[in-house]
Amino acid sequence: MDMDRLKEIGIVERLVHPAQKAQLTSREFQAESSFVNVENVSIGSQKLVIIAGPCSVEHREQLLEVARTAKQLGASMLRGGAFKPRTSPYEFQGLGEVGLRLLSEARDETGLPVVTEVLEAGKIDLLAQYADMLQIGARNMQNFPLLKSVGRSKMPVLLKRGMMATIDEWMQAAEYILLEGNPNVVLCERGIRTFEKATRNTLDLAAVPVLRKQTHLPILVDPSHATGSRDLVAPMTKAAVSAGADGVMIEVHPSPQNALSDSHQQLDLDEFAKLMQELEPVARAVGRRLR
Ligand code: PEP
Ligand code: MN
Repeated sequence: MDMDRLKEIGIVERLVHPAQKAQLTSREFQAESSFVNVENVSIGSQKLVIIAGPCSVEHREQLLEVARTAKQLGASMLRGGAFKPRTSPYEFQGLGEVGLRLLSEARDETGLPVVTEVLEAGKIDLLAQYADMLQIGARNMQNFPLLKSVGRSKMPVLLKRGMMATIDEWMQAAEYILLEGNPNVVLCERGIRTFEKATRNTLDLAAVPVLRKQTHLPILVDPSHATGSRDLVAPMTKAAVSAGADGVMIEVHPSPQNALSDSHQQLDLDEFAKLMQELEPVARAVGRRLR
């Protein structure tokens, strides 16, 4: 980056006096909270952003059924993985571009903007044709070349917390994206690895108020990957909203028991409807709204 570019984004002095100047993600750099706009959705506003959708896009009916229900129940965005970061190479890896086409079809029908995961920089242009927001998954939170590439793309980015990342490491990862001139970053707490075995991960809800103090970026919580169990998703969603999250990302599937990935943690359509109903008074109690 040349000096003009550094000046343009206001960090030239920080590089000269690193100890005295604030990072781009910090409240010192920008006191007021940021909004990140994804099409017609503003993340970070009084209205909670509910992102719903299946873990993986599997087929047209599956995705459209979830998308229509999500829209009807007041969700703001649609999620769904087309390129999946699976632990085992023998597990379902996602539909790839076919999945992206289905996501954009669902978006066109429902009007819900789409977020989907990007695994490699070489696929960003392809994803940009179909999606409205790029997700960096937990496993890639410290993939620095990928962070720089999504920064250069200027697309809104959902940056999930790495499963073994401290809050500081997570903020540094976000800093990589902002440094490329892309301020459209939303943080998503999705649980971290601890010694506890009863849940898939340990949902670090204190991260929400901690981040709120440290950064102006919007903060979401993913109670699905954080807990790994469908019966824990509703209570932790309510807790996340109570803790001040700007919204949640929830995995929803028309028939979770048949899902090709994360079948234990996806809500079915009725469970999601019930949760949206129960969330209403919780949102109101903390000065937020769902619709
Ligand atoms: C996902 O949201 O699809 C996902 C893989 O989550 P994480 O990166 O948090 O494990
Ligand atoms: Mn999943």
